[in-house]
Amino acid sequence: MTTSEQLFQRAKEVIPGGVNSPVRAFRAVGGNPLFIKAAQGPYLIDEDNNQYIELINSWGPMILGHANEMIQKAVSDAVQHSFSFGAPTRREVEMAELIISMVSSIEKVRMVNSGTEATMSAIRVARGFTGREKMIKFEGCYHGHGDSFLIAAGSGAVTMGVPDSPGVTKGVANDTLTAPFNDLYSVETLVEANKGQIAAIILEPVVGNMGLVLPEPGFLEGLRELCDKEGILLIFDEVMTGFRLSASGFQGITSVQPDLTTLGKIIGGGMPVGAYGGRKEIMDFVSPAGPVYQAGTLSGNPIAMAAGKAMLTYLNENPEVYTELDRIGAKLENGLRAGNQKAGKNFTINRIGSMYTLFFNEQPVTDFASAKASDLSMFGAYFQAMLKRGVYLAPSQFESLFISTALTDDLVDQIIAAHEVSLLEVLGGA
Ligand SMILES: *Cc1c(COP(=O)(O)O)cnc(C)c1O
Repeated sequence: MTTSEQLFQRAKEVIPGGVNSPVRAFRAVGGNPLFIKAAQGPYLIDEDNNQYIELINSWGPMILGHANEMIQKAVSDAVQHSFSFGAPTRREVEMAELIISMVSSIEKVRMVNSGTEATMSAIRVARGFTGREKMIKFEGCYHGHGDSFLIAAGSGAVTMGVPDSPGVTKGVANDTLTAPFNDLYSVETLVEANKGQIAAIILEPVVGNMGLVLPEPGFLEGLRELCDKEGILLIFDEVMTGFRLSASGFQGITSVQPDLTTLGKIIGGGMPVGAYGGRKEIMDFVSPAGPVYQAGTLSGNPIAMAAGKAMLTYLNENPEVYTELDRIGAKLENGLRAGNQKAGKNFTINRIGSMYTLFFNEQPVTDFASAKASDLSMFGAYFQAMLKRGVYLAPSQFESLFISTALTDDLVDQIIAAHEVSLLEVLGGA
C-alpha cells in the first residue's frame, strides 16, 4: 500500500468521505486520492515522493506557481506580529484600496473568508437593497455551498450526483430560479413570470464550474439591459475569474459591468479569503453602515491580507503576466488539438487565457446540458492515464484547469506528449 492509500484509509475513519471538500476524493475518476505534502513552482509532491506537473493550482489561487518567494516573505513578515487581532488594521485599508483601484465596478468592498461567504453575503445585500426575495442563477454555475445556491450547481455537486442537496429547505429552493446558461430568452421569461420579485441575477460571467464555458456574444449585454429595465442587481461571481483573466477579472475584458462582484481564490494568494463589493450605495447597506448584517471573527485576517496584498500588488504592477499566460495557454491548446487530431477525434477545447477544459465531447459545449453530454468514463480513464505519466489534472470533467506562470514551454511540451499517448491508450482500450 502506498502512503497515500494508508492515509486515505485513516482519513475515511475520521473525515466524511476522507476529504474536507468532495471533489478531492477522486470519486468521478476512480482510484484513491493522492495526499500532497509539498509543492514548488509547477510541481506537486505526494506523500510517496512522486512529483507531478499540475494544472489545478489549488483550484486557481496559485497563479504565480507554488511557494512563490515574494508571498512567502510577506506572510513570514506578518507572522512576527501575531496572527489575528479582531480589530482594524492598516493592511485591510490598503487591500480595499488596491481591489477598488483594480476592479472598476467596485467602489466599496468587504473582506470575508471564502468564496462561499462572499456569494452568500452578496445575495443577502441584494435582497436587502431591492426589498425583493427571489434570485436567478444558471444551471451548472457554482457559487459555493450556501443553501440558496445548491440548486442545479455545477462542479462537485454534479460530480457527486447530488445536484440538489438534502438539507436545503423547500422555502429556500423556491426563491432560487434557474435558467440555462447563454439562454437570454429563458431569463426574460422567468423575469416576466416573477415581475417585481427578482432581487438579483448571479452568474459566473465565464463559467469554470461545468468545465470552462464562455458567454456567447450578446448574452451578458442582454442580462445587463434586462437588469436595468427591471431594477434587478447583476452579480458577477468572479471568485474564479477575478485577477485570473486580467488584473480586473473578466469585467476588465468585457464592456458589461456588474452591480456587485464576488471574489475569492487568487485574492488570498492561497490563504482562505473572499470579498464582495460593488456600487457605493449598495455596499452602504452592509452593517454597520447599513441594516444588512454580515460579520466575521477572522475576516480581514492580518496574515491572509499580507498574502493577498502581495499577490494583488504583483499582478497589478505586472500586467504582462496575463499576456504570457495567454501565450502559454494557446501553446498548450494547440498541442492538445493536434493530439486530438492525430487520434482522429474532434474533442471540444474551451479556453480563455489561463483557463481551459478539454471536453470528451465532439459537439460545442455552451451550457450545462452540452457539458453533461461529455463521455465521463472516457474522461476518468484519461485522467488516470495522464496521472500515470506525471500530469495531475482536476479529477472531474466539470472543472476548468488553471495555468500558472511557473508552467514553462518545456513542461507544456511534456503535457502535450503525455496527452498524445494517454489519448491513444484510452481510445484503444475503449
Ligand atoms: C470556488 C468558487 C466559489 C466558492 O468559493 P469557496 O472559497 O470554495 O467557498 C464560489 N464561486 C465560484 C465561481 C467558485 O469558483
